[in-house]
Amino acid sequence: MTKQCIIIGASHAAAQLAPSLRQEGWDGDIIIIGDEPYLPYHRPPLSKSFLAGEKTAEGLAIRPAAFYEKNSIQFRQGRVTAINRSTQTLTLSDGQEQSYDKLALCMGSRVRKVSLPGSELEGVHYLRDITDVEGIKAHVEKDKHVVIIGGGYIGLEAASALRKLGMNVVVLEMAERILQRVTAPELSEFYTRIHTEEGVHIHTGIAVSEITGETHTEKVICADGTEFPVDLVIVGVGILPNIELAVEAGIEVDNGIIVDEFCRTNDANIVAAGDCTNHFNKIYNRRIRLESVPNASEQGKSAAASICGVSKEYKSLPWFWSDQYNLKLQIAGLSLGYDQISIRGDKLAGRSFAAFYFKDGQLISVDCVNRPQEFMLSKKIIAEKLSIMPAQLADETIEIKELMKLSSQH
Ligand SMILES: Cc1cc2nc3c(=O)[nH]c(=O)nc-3n(C[C@H](O)[C@H](O)[C@H](O)COP(=O)(O)OP(=O)(O)OC[C@H]3O[C@@H](n4cnc5c(N)ncnc54)[C@H](O)[C@@H]3O)c2cc1C
Repeated sequence: MTKQCIIIGASHAAAQLAPSLRQEGWDGDIIIIGDEPYLPYHRPPLSKSFLAGEKTAEGLAIRPAAFYEKNSIQFRQGRVTAINRSTQTLTLSDGQEQSYDKLALCMGSRVRKVSLPGSELEGVHYLRDITDVEGIKAHVEKDKHVVIIGGGYIGLEAASALRKLGMNVVVLEMAERILQRVTAPELSEFYTRIHTEEGVHIHTGIAVSEITGETHTEKVICADGTEFPVDLVIVGVGILPNIELAVEAGIEVDNGIIVDEFCRTNDANIVAAGDCTNHFNKIYNRRIRLESVPNASEQGKSAAASICGVSKEYKSLPWFWSDQYNLKLQIAGLSLGYDQISIRGDKLAGRSFAAFYFKDGQLISVDCVNRPQEFMLSKKIIAEKLSIMPAQLADETIEIKELMKLSSQH
């Protein structure tokens, strides 16, 4: 009998895992079961070029349909509702069953919802998939008012795209600064300035208490009494990993599905990759759950190798990017716990600088705004644990090539 590898989630991870299985020699069936009516697609443009109307839904596909056909990768639309490990079968929401020899969990994550009075009104939207953005686009019109609840990357990217389209944009952030959960005050300060220059109104330390309107949103009301007129509300307050299937099946979970460096779960026939996983990162010496495309793709490769009995360790340096206006932010590493920061360029004026984060004298992370060379340099220094002085990085008279040499000498 032909062996079957089933992938749950037509995701970023699946788009890599499935062809990697063929490369590693898997000659059985590969079936991707996804609950969205699309082949795997790029999610990052959803809050960027797709929202801004610069890309079509077709243009988001990670790979064309012909690619999957050529590699005998099949798709089945449906939602998996249970994993029965003892019988190696899956149950789908329409009651059908699907057996598996090997299973890959690539279910990604979902938006965290708010339960405010009025949050069910027409005009309140979240931003995770193509359908969400199509819903948002129906309300986009020049000079109309949008309130974005949450000043994280997705909220700020949406602010940038909607400003480009001529909307009046307000961002409401409960924390004392935007991007507080993910980055240092320096970057928050920089993006606050940029958005303000572009005409976005950012309010921090403010809690939304209610959204009002007859059937459609009319006002956003905050706990301090401030009111904002509104035609569209976008809620971007974080995500939750899709782990419930794994929990119910008795697969080990702790803030994500626990995987080892080969993306194996505690079941020898089940691997997992992407946003829904939690792995031990050797560079940072702790367990982490990442929400990024590079993580999903790289884990997809390791997971495919494991299914084929090959050991391909996942040990990449975490990295991420964000596009807002004419700015490309590239982040490498994790800055959590840094004790020293060094800045190259002027963050108070202009639109290009790099912030380097150190811990115990070692570079652990970097935020680069329109600084691709600094990004490449830092990735190498962090991943290989090379040494460099904070003052050398801050000194713009020392060229990148020279910094590379200096870091390699230690
Ligand atoms: C608006 C937006 C902008 C982003 N920007 C960036 C960026 O600039 N850079 C970056 O690195 N990352 C970005 N990200 C994050 C990135 O998109 C995610 O980290 C990545 O998509 C995770 O991929 P994944 O393979 O884990 O799962 P996903 O790509 O999230 O896919 C999971 C799929 O599984 C499906 N699924 C879940 N449960 C089931 C089930 N039981 N049965 C069937 N199907 C199921 C889901 O519906 C979904 O289609 C962004 C995300 C969003 C939403």
